[in-house]
Amino acid sequence: MKEFIAVGEALEIVSAACNLSATESVEIQNALGRVIADAVVATDPIPPFDNSAMDGYAVRRDDVTTVPKQLRVVGEIAAGAWPENGLQGGECFRIMTGAPIPPGADCIVPVEWTQAISQNATRVLRTPPLHYSVRRKGDDVEAGDEVIPPGSVVSPPVVGMLASLGLKLVPVRRRPRVSILATGSEIVDHRTQPRPGQVRNSNGPALAAQTMAAGGEVVQSSTVGDDMQALQQKIEKALAADVVVLSGGVSVGAYDLVQDALRELGVDLKFWKVRQRPGKPLLFGERDGTLVFGLPGNPVSSSICFDRFVRPALSAMLGRRDAGCEKRRAVLETSMKKVEGLHYFARGVFTQTNEGTSVRPSGSQSSAVYSALVHANCIIHLPEDMVDPVAGTTVTIEPLSWLSG
Ligand code: AMP
Ligand code: MG
Repeated sequence: MKEFIAVGEALEIVSAACNLSATESVEIQNALGRVIADAVVATDPIPPFDNSAMDGYAVRRDDVTTVPKQLRVVGEIAAGAWPENGLQGGECFRIMTGAPIPPGADCIVPVEWTQAISQNATRVLRTPPLHYSVRRKGDDVEAGDEVIPPGSVVSPPVVGMLASLGLKLVPVRRRPRVSILATGSEIVDHRTQPRPGQVRNSNGPALAAQTMAAGGEVVQSSTVGDDMQALQQKIEKALAADVVVLSGGVSVGAYDLVQDALRELGVDLKFWKVRQRPGKPLLFGERDGTLVFGLPGNPVSSSICFDRFVRPALSAMLGRRDAGCEKRRAVLETSMKKVEGLHYFARGVFTQTNEGTSVRPSGSQSSAVYSALVHANCIIHLPEDMVDPVAGTTVTIEPLSWLSG
């Protein structure tokens, strides 16, 4: 087991332990937020036939090169109809948006460019360019096109595109199954009234929400006291999942039993302690393909460690193409305290103005002050070698993943 390693090395170890989730098929109307497993290839073109982009008249452009020009209206084509007959010289069809272009027509004259004469005749006042307002078959998507690459997250327009392509089911990555276990003899269910000395379990519900936001499925979320036997029993059960997320009990206190419990259960411990703040005592291991994260119990540490390590692991298991938010540069509005040798994930509020991006801490940077995380909109990265950055320093920030929806 490695100890006190850099954030980058810890991430590499986690990433190396991730296995791609299996594929399952879901109905496209239930696919929102899921990750596409196999490339979606169009079997048919979109649009499926040449059609009109406007209400107007389908004409032969040669007939209307000189205007005004009177044409015989030989029929009407509504959306949903299929024209049997084509156009002869001097003829036109009244045509509606989305209706198929009749054989022989090569452009559309919008209604606004015409003057109705009778039911059977219209006068064209303006010459359209060739193919004007004709939406060509395959203009949007050609048969054989890879329309949606694997690893894409299904957005509302992706649902629409899948429908357009005629898919009933779409192959997606199975959601990684996550078991959450909040440890600590002081921890009680949030729906109960804590006795003196007890604390409501906030990590469990927060981690469950983070799991769902990251595309995972919460299969179990429970609490357990600092008791070796009970801990081992609960963890053994949790190990049936793809990912076990434990909170609390990973530091150096007399009742921090998680590490020993995991070792007893045959979990291969990969690292303990990362050169970061918050979340220094982070513990990571693996058993039979199940990833085990031991997150420190302080609520800020727990949330940030999930965001920095568990979320990328879930993204990797889901095979996501674009995991995480884009980093940007911002100017510190105030000075901050920082020791050398730890990477800080400080909680901040960034503001975008015409002058650029600035950022300030969202409140106390203690890992027990949860409100500063609640009010934050970004993480401020303060690298290991930085010490006490002063106001005006340019830093890297990362918008919080859960705010991007
Ligand atoms: P630990 O990591 O077990 O030493 O816990 C560190 C701090 O986080 C202690 O003050 C705990 O009471 C608190 N804590 C641990 N687990 C939770 C939890 N599930 N919900 C809220 N606070 C917790
Ligand atoms: Mg504890």
